[in-house]
Amino acid sequence: RDSHAGRRVLVTGAANGIGRAIALGFAARGATVGVADLRAEDVARAVAEIEAAGRGKAVGLTVDVADYIALEAAAGEAANAMGGTFDTVINNAGISPKHEGVAHKVWEMDPAEWRRVVDVNLTGTFNTIRLLSGSMRAAQRGWIVNTSSVAGKTYSPIVACHYAATKSAIIGFTKHLAAELGPYGIRVNALAPGRIETPMVRGVAPEINEEQVRLTPMARLGQPEEVADVALWLTSAESSFVTGQTVDVAGGLYMT
Ligand code: NAD
Repeated sequence: RDSHAGRRVLVTGAANGIGRAIALGFAARGATVGVADLRAEDVARAVAEIEAAGRGKAVGLTVDVADYIALEAAAGEAANAMGGTFDTVINNAGISPKHEGVAHKVWEMDPAEWRRVVDVNLTGTFNTIRLLSGSMRAAQRGWIVNTSSVAGKTYSPIVACHYAATKSAIIGFTKHLAAELGPYGIRVNALAPGRIETPMVRGVAPEINEEQVRLTPMARLGQPEEVADVALWLTSAESSFVTGQTVDVAGGLYMT
């Protein structure tokens, strides 16, 4: 299936977990994938993996999404390598700081940790869209998928307030951008994953994941590929009239 052949897709946080599965999914459907992550060796590994697995190509961007200037430079280099700018952006990079597996309460939280979570989860998402929506508007087409969370929709005892605040903000941000960019043929949607088996989730005490599975009607953790499939759908012709939506991929953990 070449549903995304010819597309140039930026995936942030693409070296691990959900982002890695999304990048592999796009490559398998014929896209050229921009693999953005923090460390050069992780980016190189993911690029090699994608090129080995998919029919598409991969370009590495070693970058912190919170740094607009660095992102602009990296995206410019990628555009030269690809022969054009990105037409699809998957804003997946996100952090959920814990301390020995436990989220800090608001009164314990270091203000620098608060700022970092806002910078990565929210401003990082703004940055890619600020940077790439101009060329998408000029082309009168573009696809954007942001990453919220069930923890952005309802209270979750296993995350901290900074994480919940940014993931709620992504939902409103996505709706607003869908309105601004819709007239230019650009669709903007978001994912709200439940409990997905990734390095982020493997880092916590087993009891926490067991409790989440107990609360999930499908009675298991989700797999990164199951989130990737929804990102692929939201950027495909099969969702051509869907915009401004936040789609739960959560096995029923939370139902709106
Ligand atoms: P992960 O920690 O397994 O992988 C995240 C990747 O993002 C890592 O490779 C990391 O290096 C990269 N990254 C972090 N900060 C970055 C930055 N500033 N710039 C560039 N790259 C950066 O996480 P995951 O579980 O795959 O989660 C991916 C997204 O899904 C996140 O936004 C997360 O909040 C969200 N999410 C995950 C779950 C879950 O259960 N795993 C649930 C809900 C939402």
